[in-house]
Amino acid sequence: MQTIVLGSGSPLPDASRAGPSTLVRTEIGDLLFDCGRGVLMRAAAAGSSAGAIRGLFLTHLHSDHTTDLNDVVTSRWVTSFQPNPLPLFGPPGITRLLHATEAMLELDIGYRMAHHTDLQWRPSADVTECEGGLVLEAGSVRVTAAPTDHAPVRPTLGYRIDEGDASVVIAGDTVPCPGLDQLCAGADLLVHTVVRRDLIEPLGLARLTDVLDYHSSVEDAARTAARNDVGTLLLTHLVPAPQPGAEDEWVALAKEHFGGTVVVAQDLLTLEVSRWV
Ligand SMILES: [Zn+2]
Ligand SMILES: [Zn+2]
Repeated sequence: MQTIVLGSGSPLPDASRAGPSTLVRTEIGDLLFDCGRGVLMRAAAAGSSAGAIRGLFLTHLHSDHTTDLNDVVTSRWVTSFQPNPLPLFGPPGITRLLHATEAMLELDIGYRMAHHTDLQWRPSADVTECEGGLVLEAGSVRVTAAPTDHAPVRPTLGYRIDEGDASVVIAGDTVPCPGLDQLCAGADLLVHTVVRRDLIEPLGLARLTDVLDYHSSVEDAARTAARNDVGTLLLTHLVPAPQPGAEDEWVALAKEHFGGTVVVAQDLLTLEVSRWV
């Protein structure tokens, strides 16, 4: 199983970091977690595509995690030569988001169906709204979800992907919480969104300091990893984005609380996840 960071950025546009999105490559295909800004450009670079995605899993409906859903829906539709419903999983609200996205695309859908005589079906999706538990099981792959805490955004989900003995957790945006602990127990890799409290707090700007109360700091994520005996902690959704060369600071902060491997994400970083490597 491979984990590929498609977007390591945050809501703030960044020249070298796409919006939040992670690809987990499994024996049953590519599983996509969130679809932030630029997701399909990065997916193309990783050898994937909208049409190839075996499942899109949304952690929550903040726009930075969903802004390119319209691109996934449209690109999957126009590049498939038979109906290819998008398997879409996420918290209650994803059906509403999908319908609103389709409504936004209505004119485009009409133009394309009128122009392409071989494209006589609309974009479609198989939607599974859930608040936790087993969400997908196929071959040796299991995806389970659990509630996280990103209040006032509710509900929000983290995911755990198990393939045989190997496991990856996608935390999404959350403060430390029991649901995330449950997913993380003994996981090989934890992909965790983080903010730098030590850099943001002194700014004293309410619009920025507001984000501190519903995100994990680097230290919080490290403590979650340590408490749950995680193998590797991958820090992503980096706020503020590190200046080139400053990644070691982030690693050092995490290392104060966690004895495992700490990695700072950049777009297209790829980690092999195996119990035996
Ligand atoms: Zn969020
Ligand atoms: Zn976010």
